[in-house]
Amino acid sequence: MQGTQASAEAALALAEEYCRERGEKLTPIRRKVLELLLTSGRATKAYSLLDDMRHIHPGSAPPTVYRALDFLLSAGLVHKIESINAFAVCHDLTQCQHGILVVCQQCGNVTELHQPALREALVAQIENAGYRLAGDGIELKGLCSACQAAQAAGS
Ligand SMILES: [Zn+2]
Ligand SMILES: [Zn+2]
Repeated sequence: MQGTQASAEAALALAEEYCRERGEKLTPIRRKVLELLLTSGRATKAYSLLDDMRHIHPGSAPPTVYRALDFLLSAGLVHKIESINAFAVCHDLTQCQHGILVVCQQCGNVTELHQPALREALVAQIENAGYRLAGDGIELKGLCSACQAAQAAGS
């Protein structure tokens, strides 16, 4: 898939520039983890990223991958998808407005809804009810169209 590769390269260049502006470094390992997430295109579990890293760099230790993920999370380049305990690249990479994430519980496909008004209204309702959100992420659990089709075909 040449298109995916080209857009992954463009996204990596953007992320590198973004880190440089923030006075941080997208080290080769951080870059590689981000690249794996970009090419997977869906939410991926840490152990599966570790597996991939070991194919590229045999000897990769779990802490290395976890530290790289921590960095990418704190830089806002990836989202942690709590409902399936996985990681996904932020769709707008360096300018995330913290949209609402819809997560396919079957395959890990993530869609980010960018409706600031909707998010604000939701947060206002939550605060009216006396709650404060535990994090920036709002996640909705779902089943993507591909998985719905597969389910329909299977039953
Ligand atoms: Zn995002
Ligand atoms: Zn799915």
